[in-house]
Amino acid sequence: MSSLLQQITARITSEGPISLADYMAECLLHPEHGYYTTRSPFGSEGDFTTAPEISQMFGELIGLALAQCWLDQGAPAPFSLAELGPGRGTLMADLLRATRAVPGFHAAMQIHLVEASPRLRAQQKDALAENQVRWVDSVDALPEQPLFLVANEFFDALPIRQFVRDTEGWRERRVGLSDGALCFGLGPEAPQPALEHRLLDTKPDDLVELTPAAAPITALLAQRIAQHGGAALIIDYGDWRSLGDTLQALQAHAPVDPLLDPGSADLTAHVDFEPLCSVAQGAGCAFSKLTPQGVFLERLGITDRARALAASLQGDALENLIAAHRRLTHPEEMGNLFKVLGITPAHIAPPPGLLS
Ligand code: SAH
Repeated sequence: MSSLLQQITARITSEGPISLADYMAECLLHPEHGYYTTRSPFGSEGDFTTAPEISQMFGELIGLALAQCWLDQGAPAPFSLAELGPGRGTLMADLLRATRAVPGFHAAMQIHLVEASPRLRAQQKDALAENQVRWVDSVDALPEQPLFLVANEFFDALPIRQFVRDTEGWRERRVGLSDGALCFGLGPEAPQPALEHRLLDTKPDDLVELTPAAAPITALLAQRIAQHGGAALIIDYGDWRSLGDTLQALQAHAPVDPLLDPGSADLTAHVDFEPLCSVAQGAGCAFSKLTPQGVFLERLGITDRARALAASLQGDALENLIAAHRRLTHPEEMGNLFKVLGITPAHIAPPPGLLS
């Protein structure tokens, strides 16, 4: 079977240039050659490290925050405990260990993991071997019942489209061919109804990004939370309202050319939280203030937790714990770049660590 580069080249030769979203979808989730399908991307051996892989404290605190929401909403049973894009299953394993002591939580939960990659599903199965877990392909397969959900670095992996502002319209940035090699180019100017409001705060040549899959996914989870109760914690790098090119390709912890070897690098983009909040509100939910990860974790008591763990550590293990605490919380590390958004039913307070 030909390489992904050959397949994408053939597709562009027959169809013409493709959107960046189509290119990213091929690179990340192609059934044979996709990045998540073929690789084990996490940790020091892989291409990037995520918060749950840095320290157990992350999943523990997320778990306790969700369990507190569940108690505050009257401990409904049964409920879905769900994660979008669980990676190696580390966050869920830490969450489950930390919530074991919450009376009734484990008895009432039904664990649902939304995961596209069969390879990562197998790793999650190993990490969560002691639990009953159901895997689903998308949020619409989650049962109609209270939903307590976490998504860490999931939305940044969804394919984006990029548009460059022209005078009164937009030209889409696309992937085409030049002398047989993949290259970026701009499509013809066209109106974009989804970007109508961005004509007000941009000028010609500005670039804005859209994530077509993000709104339908948020709508589905918000509908369940509005109707049956629950809460969602969405954690990702990004900010309020997109502006500028944020596409990033990482291989072995270093940036690479995203077009060079499709399927071999992790492709992500900053998450624009504004449309997620609009969709959640439209579905009948409240959303919290967008909060820096460092502030959120400090409010949940990460420093006390680190002190408790430190009491039984020394040498390298102690140094690693101190470094992990800093990495997760410090404004110059992940503390400021990563943001946390909480979604709850309308008129219900946001999850612990967040303000309305
Ligand atoms: N949450 C994990 C992993 C983040 S990487 C962590 O913090 O370590 C992104 C995860 O989302 C991977 O598990 C990937 O396979 C999954 N994923 C990416 N796109 C997806 C999609 N469209 N549907 C379901 N899962 C997806």
